Amino acid sequence: MVEVRNRDLTNPFHIVQGQLRAAVDNLQLGEDVYEFLKEPMRVVEVAIPVHRDDGRLTTFIGYRAQHTDAIGPTKGGIRFHPDVSLDEVKGLSMWMTFKTAVMGLPYGGAKGGVICNPGELSARELEELSRGYVRRLAAVLGPELDIPAPDVNTNPRVMGWMLDEYDRVRGQNTPGFITGKPLVLGGSAGREEATGRGVVYTVLEAMKRLGLDPRRSTAAIQGFGNVGSHTAEFLHQNGVKVVAVEDVRGGAMNPDGLDVPALLAYAHRNGTVKGFPGSRNIGTEELFALDVDVLVPAALENQITSTVARNVKARIIAEAANGPTTPDGDDILHQRGVFIIPDILCNAGGVTVSYFEWVQNTQGYYWTEQEVNSRLERLMVTAFQHVYDTMQERRLTMREASYVIAVHRVAEACEARGWLRLPTTNEIPAPALHLIGRDRPV
Ligand code: NAD
Repeated sequence: MVEVRNRDLTNPFHIVQGQLRAAVDNLQLGEDVYEFLKEPMRVVEVAIPVHRDDGRLTTFIGYRAQHTDAIGPTKGGIRFHPDVSLDEVKGLSMWMTFKTAVMGLPYGGAKGGVICNPGELSARELEELSRGYVRRLAAVLGPELDIPAPDVNTNPRVMGWMLDEYDRVRGQNTPGFITGKPLVLGGSAGREEATGRGVVYTVLEAMKRLGLDPRRSTAAIQGFGNVGSHTAEFLHQNGVKVVAVEDVRGGAMNPDGLDVPALLAYAHRNGTVKGFPGSRNIGTEELFALDVDVLVPAALENQITSTVARNVKARIIAEAANGPTTPDGDDILHQRGVFIIPDILCNAGGVTVSYFEWVQNTQGYYWTEQEVNSRLERLMVTAFQHVYDTMQERRLTMREASYVIAVHRVAEACEARGWLRLPTTNEIPAPALHLIGRDRPV
């Protein structure tokens, strides 16, 4: 209990430990399950020297946290950002465990990060850093061990360099080592858009439950990178009016709706949405307080604090980012009746298509984009329904319900491996076990 009292409510590692605690208690799984899952099973810190273009040498610090491999090899993205910390990576690795579990994917969770500002690195320096990260960690990475992917400030190009470095170290071709890689190296059709596409599938499901018509609904999005921009694109395609977007450099607001295809082209050309013709600038505080139907935080953690939450007017918050809502912000949103699609469900489209990519690499046989998208839609809709049913049956929030499903699945895998003894099954009020990752052929 001391541990709980000392928690920092903006620290992702402490937040996920609290979420784990609540799910273990709800399922009456016993203290051992919490004790076993409260820390990543392996954390590695590496020092990566990079020769700078001006002749200096800089050493960057990187991490990889692997939470548990109870269900399968660990899986999770790599982030390049100045604010990366050990606790952030540990917390994100645990969120990956619960995300893959709620989706029924055969993986555990991992996450990696390097403390750096990629905006200050040349392409050559970035390549040296990406290759150095993989060289230092190659012993604990692999298609049956731990499979990286893109995250904040990393992209298919970085994945391509990382794949090549791993292949050099191993002396063989291993396309399943990493996902989110370029198509020509065995990437999957639809992977780049998958997280945003999945976000929109969950938003459409939430709208159905709340009786909202997408064609008469409005949305605002914070973050216009991979996830935010594709979320805008698919919301727009489904008739939702996107009235405001924001990135780290500024925002764009038009109450009549932004011309999303033109905005995507503008952001691509200018590296920001700020200054988009026909829009006015908007800041974070104003964006989160807009009177829209759907708010999509798609940037970083801890954006919706208790102060921000008090001003939210949206009916739905779709957590496209990982951990965008602080626990006290979450309580306030709940009291105010906002329907939250929790991150581990909302943004799971990325890891789901990463799973499809890994399956295709393993088979050496590749699917069409339409096959990928329809399988993604089915898994997202099924997972949403499962969480929604569990929420209603157990009178939980959507977030609590998703953790109950995920933690139960992970605990069962631990028991099946003989790692843990759970209370006898009739004592556990278990949610129905949907093996939704076991998809039918299309
Ligand atoms: P990205 O680097 O492509 O984009 C991040 C965006 O957020 C950029 O537009 C950036 O300008 C903006 N941003 C950063 N700080 C901001 C601030 N203070 N205010 C406003 N905007 C800000 O990253 P991404 O891959 O789109 O990831 C975004 C979030 O989604 C992260 O939380 C990530 O962990 C999560 N996520 C990503 C994926 C994926 O497949 N890429 C999958 C699941 C979850």
